Amino acid sequence: MTIKAYGAHAGDQPLESMEITRRTLGAEDVQIEILFCGVCHSDIHQVRSEWAGTRYPCVPGHEIVGRVAAVGAQVSSHRVGDLVGVGCIVDSCQHCEDCGAGLENYCDRMVGTYNGKTADAPGHTLGGYSQQIVVHQRYVLHVRHPEAQLAAVAPLLCAGITTYSPLRHWKVGPGQKVGVVGIGGLGHMGIKLAHAMGAHVVAFTTSESKREAAKALGADEVVVSRNTAEMAAYAKRLDFILNTVAVPHDLDAFLALLKRDGTMTLVGAPASPHPASNVFNLVGKRRSLAGSMIGGIPETQEMLDFCAKHGIVAEIELIRADQINQAYERMLKNDVKYRFVIDSASLGG
Ligand code: NAP
Ligand code: ZN
Repeated sequence: MTIKAYGAHAGDQPLESMEITRRTLGAEDVQIEILFCGVCHSDIHQVRSEWAGTRYPCVPGHEIVGRVAAVGAQVSSHRVGDLVGVGCIVDSCQHCEDCGAGLENYCDRMVGTYNGKTADAPGHTLGGYSQQIVVHQRYVLHVRHPEAQLAAVAPLLCAGITTYSPLRHWKVGPGQKVGVVGIGGLGHMGIKLAHAMGAHVVAFTTSESKREAAKALGADEVVVSRNTAEMAAYAKRLDFILNTVAVPHDLDAFLALLKRDGTMTLVGAPASPHPASNVFNLVGKRRSLAGSMIGGIPETQEMLDFCAKHGIVAEIELIRADQINQAYERMLKNDVKYRFVIDSASLGG
């Protein structure tokens, strides 16, 4: 099947309209008509070859929602017409300890929704900035939100699960003070989810313009992190920090805000390392510095259901596919509240 997509032929080229092919439906495959696809900062890192190993042509997009168009003979979990989602994972070994634990995101043979090695042409996976996708049923999620919210559900498939998973793993809940650093696509979901889990949420932003906006998302307090006096007032006061910042920065400024035994988990994945952190900021208060990558398939479904139950969706700005290069430039200036989502209908014409 040949379809339209948006992607780049090289790291220094803008994204452009292109035609790609999808594999013939296998017995366990679900063919999805893509309706919306969110735009993650990882798409920029990858398509511009900021991380190692980008394969071209590169069609990004791993925040996919759409409608099932066809199912293979052995598909039992999805029916034609269902609203579904596909996140960052389209395959894994299915046998290792991680896959057995439903943590396909940590499987050594996890295949990303784009830029992952596959037998399908052209030898690597092509993502959701496209009209259709064919995915093994195991990696297709049920969407239970009302259809009218579908565009705003798309970002849950990466920004949602990437923040939900560490908040659950580090048992964030009532009685805890939780910091969320960087109020972009991931960070704004982190605020909404930590708030829904019952935590007291402190948002840390470099953008004065987000001070009031972050409160509307559910933050109890907002700190402009460029202001050292404001930062000093939070020393040793937080139980947990979720750091979503996409560029290298001073981690010590945030580690110093943790109480004894507190943890800061990094989910932001800048192209180059953070400046080395001062070990005394860890040992002095038995603090931990950790990392977390997206989430497994069962937890992604749990997150989608949690969001449907609590009425949580992303705050989005809907764009046409031909606005994607401009959208990337705006994201790099922190000029989006808070996630761009591509209307896939625009790929057709
Ligand atoms: P985004 O929408 O661009 O948000 C990043 C935020 O970082 C910005 O909105 C900004 O928030 C803050 N920021 C930007 N420049 C900064 C600076 N110089 N100093 C401090 N803060 C700054 O990006 P995103 O889509 O949320 O993704 C964030 C990062 O997470 C990316 O590196 C992405 O690749 C990574 N990611 C990781 C995973 C994972 O599995 N671990 C999954 C998805 C994405 P303020 O305006 O509030 O300061
Ligand atoms: Zn992402």
